[in-house]
Amino acid sequence: MGCQHSTADDEHYKFEDVERPDFSLQALLQNENLVRAAKALADCDVLLFACGAGWSKDSGLATFEEVRDNGLDYFALCQSTLLHEDPEKFYGFHGKQLESYRKTTPHVGFNILKSWKQDMIDRMKTTFQFQKLQADKNLTNFPFFILTSNVDAHFWTSGLFGRMELAEIHGNMEYWQCSSGVTAPTRGMCGASRKCEQRPWRFPESQDMKPYPRCSCGAYARPNILMFKDRIYDDTGENAKFVKWWDTVESYKNIKSDLKIVILEVGTGLIVPSIRIKTSQFAKDNNATLIRVNPKRSDLEDAAFQGAEGKFVTILDTSVNAMRKLDYLMRSGV
Ligand SMILES: [Zn+2]
Repeated sequence: MGCQHSTADDEHYKFEDVERPDFSLQALLQNENLVRAAKALADCDVLLFACGAGWSKDSGLATFEEVRDNGLDYFALCQSTLLHEDPEKFYGFHGKQLESYRKTTPHVGFNILKSWKQDMIDRMKTTFQFQKLQADKNLTNFPFFILTSNVDAHFWTSGLFGRMELAEIHGNMEYWQCSSGVTAPTRGMCGASRKCEQRPWRFPESQDMKPYPRCSCGAYARPNILMFKDRIYDDTGENAKFVKWWDTVESYKNIKSDLKIVILEVGTGLIVPSIRIKTSQFAKDNNATLIRVNPKRSDLEDAAFQGAEGKFVTILDTSVNAMRKLDYLMRSGV
């Protein structure tokens, strides 16, 4: 397959800077699952890319387990009620998280994914059919979509992808919302007499956490991310975007019955399985091939695919290594 690894108009595109992988092609070709996955990716008509904490970990960001190992109780820190119980602790934790996300450079897997998307664009002749079916201007009209539970916003802050082709199902740390619980009265959260109608807003690049950020109504501001026991998270429609794109894939399938649909799911664990639930369902509903990448063998397994192994490929590896190996195989014409 011919890959195009640079686009002149994309200044964020840094794939060329990366050293060539030190993998041996011969060794990669021995790995049956890797080869199956590379072939499926090189030939797909629809690609859903889904990722969890393991994907961001490869950029150097801490996972739940690592936060816990540092003596911090992630579950306690990510309770929405902590804001009112202990604002100092709340802003201390979330402020550090935001700072760390902004300082961290996304790994090369992002660039590789972007190059695969470009390859799809180059080889596809029938995307106009998909475009006709998807008329919402706020949603991509291309059969490529990203689903993530990560809140670092790296897909779009890197400039590599647009929010229209991405569902951040747990929100992101760049956007902040009112903590009064009446952020979105039109969506049924209100009922109180308070007057806040703020939608989530972008947290300023340079703002310090002190004095603590507030909404214009006077209440504390908080990240627009889904926390534990969170009853006031303002879901701005990320899940709905994915559902709408999924509906378009279904309609596309009705026109093009031999559609090859692939899901590449990387770095999703069993602690917060939100993404896995969606990818399994999407795979089943669309007779799609699910490629699951995880460095933990126990996280690869899926009882839902018993008897459907032909549609399920597992790769025991970290996200970024798997992306580099798959890309290497695809570029070698596998
Ligand atoms: Zn407010």
